[in-house]
Amino acid sequence: LCGRITGAIQQMKNATIVDEKALNDCLNEITRALLQSDVSFHLVKEMQTNIKKIVNLEDLAVGHNKRRIIEQAIFCELCKMLDPGKSAFAPKKTKPSVVLFVGLQGAGKTTTCTKYAYYHQKKGYKPALVCADTFRAGAFDQLKQNATKAKIPFYGSYTESDPAKIAVEGVDRFKKENCDLIIVDTSGRHKQEASLFEEMRQVAEATKPDLVIFAMDSSIGQAAFEQAQAFKQSVAVGAVIITKMDGHAKGGGALSAVAATKSPVIFIGTGEHMDDFEIFDAKPFVSRLLGNGDWSGFVNKLQEVVPKDQQPELLEKLSHGNFTLRIMYDQFQNILNMGPLKEVFSMLPGICAEMMPEGHEKESQAKIKRYMTMMDSMTNEELDSSNPKVFNGSKIMRIARGSGRIVTEVMDMLEEYKRLATMWGKVKGLKMLEKGNMSSL
Ligand code: GDP
Ligand code: MG
Repeated sequence: LCGRITGAIQQMKNATIVDEKALNDCLNEITRALLQSDVSFHLVKEMQTNIKKIVNLEDLAVGHNKRRIIEQAIFCELCKMLDPGKSAFAPKKTKPSVVLFVGLQGAGKTTTCTKYAYYHQKKGYKPALVCADTFRAGAFDQLKQNATKAKIPFYGSYTESDPAKIAVEGVDRFKKENCDLIIVDTSGRHKQEASLFEEMRQVAEATKPDLVIFAMDSSIGQAAFEQAQAFKQSVAVGAVIITKMDGHAKGGGALSAVAATKSPVIFIGTGEHMDDFEIFDAKPFVSRLLGNGDWSGFVNKLQEVVPKDQQPELLEKLSHGNFTLRIMYDQFQNILNMGPLKEVFSMLPGICAEMMPEGHEKESQAKIKRYMTMMDSMTNEELDSSNPKVFNGSKIMRIARGSGRIVTEVMDMLEEYKRLATMWGKVKGLKMLEKGNMSSL
């Protein structure tokens, strides 16, 4: 799905003239790709109409970057598709909530429900975990291990075979113990089977959950809609969590899952560890879906331009998420060293889309140099800070004066910094780097 959407956008961007035909070709291809992924016809049609409304080619004055406007419209519409228009149930600390996890075997339920519990524990909740998976041998042990590691109370049984019975026992016990967030893990099957859905219905009926979360592997692709819908038809799914976003899959299935369940994605799983868990944010998600912010090519390139002995240090800094202005400065230097900016474009869509529009290489290069001049007027303390809030009015004025630029330019530069810092923060691929070195990519 994502490949086709990206391909369609790329084709439109490569077209010599962006006219009605190029736009239609692009939109038709995207429409076909979405429909084939079983995103509802209504949704897809709406998206197409909206884009055409936004992108009124005839009204666009010459000089407008039509390619960019179209791309942005597609981006916005995809974000909208990820928004079902309502938020998920949020557990309260004043009364116990029951949250039921459902999904196929291997989707990541057991892992994710511990992450969910741990996340809320850090926010001051008193979570507890109940293992109602009697299907898979070792299910209880797995949950027990996870729960113990996170110091979260758990309940389960090695002998009882009725999942609904265990679930109720666990929920009742933890209600008595004044837990405010009781999370029930369920079993899955390798396939969507009637028996699984019947079991989920029974567990849900017995535990009366406040929220049912559908856990979905990011890599299931085409099957997403049907799978999500099947669960939605047996239990009242109210939220979606997409797991394994640290892998290669871009998670296009999320669009279908949202459409099928009419529920929002609330978190994404980004690794096997307890805190590899992030609040879902549509923008970076779509960005990745469209192939932006894919940094592996960039990192490869960095490997060529950053001297070997400096690589570990850079990775160390990046993996801690402190994208300071000094790092930005160094990266700008790297970009300038990479040679023709045109070549860099293909690797850095995230940076380039806004900062370096295609066809404006000279201006972009000048802009980078200008930003660097402004940073030259910063103190060491400022350069090493990763908090843009330290830049108050007088500091901004001092930097502007020192570099011979105007205040709004300094503010632009700081905005750019914030945008890049956010992007770097989101790049979980970098987590991989923590474990190895660059050459493992
Ligand atoms: P369940 O059958 O739905 O309970 O799935 P599990 O929680 O047992 O997860 C199946 C496998 O996927 C395990 O090996 C997990 O470690 C792994 N897993 C779950 N979530 C993630 C994730 O976000 N990233 C990665 N890399 N692995 C995950
Ligand atoms: Mg499990």
